[in-house]
Amino acid sequence: MDVDCVVVGAGFGGLGAAMTLAEGGARVALCEALKYPGGCASTFTRQGWRFESGATLFSGFDPGQLFDRWITAHSLAVETRVLDPMVELRAGDLRLAVPPSREGLIARLCALPAAPVERLRAFFDTQRAVADTLWALFDDPEMLPPFDLRALGRHALRAHRYAALLPWLGRPLAAVLARHELTHCEPLRVYLDALCQITVQTGVDEAEACFALSATDYCFRGTRHVHGGIGALASALTDALARMGADVRMSDAARSITRDGDVWVVRTRKGELRARTVVANVLPQSLAALAPAVRSPRLAALSARVEEGWGAAMLYLGVAREAPLRAHAHHLELVGDVSKPFVEGNHVFVSVSGLDEPERAPGGARTVTASTHVPMRALAGLDLDAQGRYVAEVQRRMMALIEAQAPELARHVVHRMTASPRTFERFTGRFRGYVGGVPRRAGLHNYEGIWPAPVAPGLYLVGDSVFPGQSTLATAIGGQRVARRILAG
Ligand SMILES: Cc1cc2nc3c(=O)[nH]c(=O)nc-3n(C[C@H](O)[C@H](O)[C@H](O)COP(=O)(O)OP(=O)(O)OC[C@H]3O[C@@H](n4cnc5c(N)ncnc54)[C@H](O)[C@@H]3O)c2cc1C
Repeated sequence: MDVDCVVVGAGFGGLGAAMTLAEGGARVALCEALKYPGGCASTFTRQGWRFESGATLFSGFDPGQLFDRWITAHSLAVETRVLDPMVELRAGDLRLAVPPSREGLIARLCALPAAPVERLRAFFDTQRAVADTLWALFDDPEMLPPFDLRALGRHALRAHRYAALLPWLGRPLAAVLARHELTHCEPLRVYLDALCQITVQTGVDEAEACFALSATDYCFRGTRHVHGGIGALASALTDALARMGADVRMSDAARSITRDGDVWVVRTRKGELRARTVVANVLPQSLAALAPAVRSPRLAALSARVEEGWGAAMLYLGVAREAPLRAHAHHLELVGDVSKPFVEGNHVFVSVSGLDEPERAPGGARTVTASTHVPMRALAGLDLDAQGRYVAEVQRRMMALIEAQAPELARHVVHRMTASPRTFERFTGRFRGYVGGVPRRAGLHNYEGIWPAPVAPGLYLVGDSVFPGQSTLATAIGGQRVARRILAG
């Protein structure tokens, strides 16, 4: 046997698993197809421009949270910043600068003309009770399954707090707004629709309330900008793995995973690895292709959930240094018509690098990563040319929205690249270019399968298709949970 565990893929799911396994003393090999780690949360270089490939705003950096713990424990040279505002929402005449605290956000919403102050405060009381309960579980890996006796005892002691979740389990966020008579409070509604789309991957009417209320904390739970791009954290983690003795193999795609007695054999571009345990940081469809002999109802069920989801259309823009923008890195969330779905260029998340990151672009210019959701069902029936035209039209709408809502940026664009679901498929190997995880549409099914379980003996899946999924931090926590289960034997 070469190692105890082979991890396939150095996205944040794979990194979370590999870090936890190596910290636990396991001999780990990590093979990544690309020459840099991070997957959808990476930073890539083209013609001297360093762009975030997908994810741009990250939680988990408060003291004691997972990324902070790794930075501290492994002395990682990763610099992070709290931004204020964290995000600026622009929709029609609405301008909402979201500060990095819940109290600050409540104050700004209450200061809007004719704001229903008492009802807003009551809504955020409900939100706080749910979010504080669920985040306490995410911040402490012991509190998520698999549980030991100590964890069960701790859950028993805090059982009274779980009462805050009960009224909302299986119900959409819209029900919480209705309970607080805020259905027609447009600024809150637009803010939540935009936030839910980028976090739980669906709007207020459909989003599972408990997840959506927790995701409402997205801008203030250890949320930071990573100086130089999230690739800095991904690379620091692969360096830490190498220092812990892991065999880190970049540009080494896995081509097949097969069983030989009680050992898994991973054939890669550069050779072969044998281990009792394999952790695959790929979509379930890709794992089924890598390991065709594995017949698992769980893989089939997860694949179906992934296919309810989204692809992304991207603009990677270079903006002249002289553009009249805030000096520090910042994020704009732009919405066109608030009565239409927040997808297909009607909602664009725009992230701009800081002037203090001159290494990101030639001549100290700024990089911009802009993304919007693409419904994959819209692409399904089209041939490749028609898919290209469809995505190009979405990208045209994205640019038109940026010109309308952020002219100070649009007027100074000096460089432009695009990406589509096919680009994600090509670079990150994601099946058909599905990204962003499984949409959390309301229903109790969201709480099924949250126990980390193998898809075959010794073969585990991690990443944004498995619980808790859906963000860089959540996939890392998911990887950590699977690794803890493996270490527990
Ligand atoms: C446009 C966009 C914007 C987003 N914005 C945010 C955000 O602001 N904040 C946030 O927290 N999250 C955001 N997300 C979500 C977040 O990026 C993802 O949920 C998370 O990064 C997914 O990680 P993963 O480990 O599941 O998979 P991936 O990131 O896809 O990683 C999988 C890795 O495996 C590698 N791989 C694939 N096949 C093989 C193989 N056969 N052999 C070896 N290696 C292989 C890939 O190259 C890749 O590096 C965004 C996502 C997108 C697409």
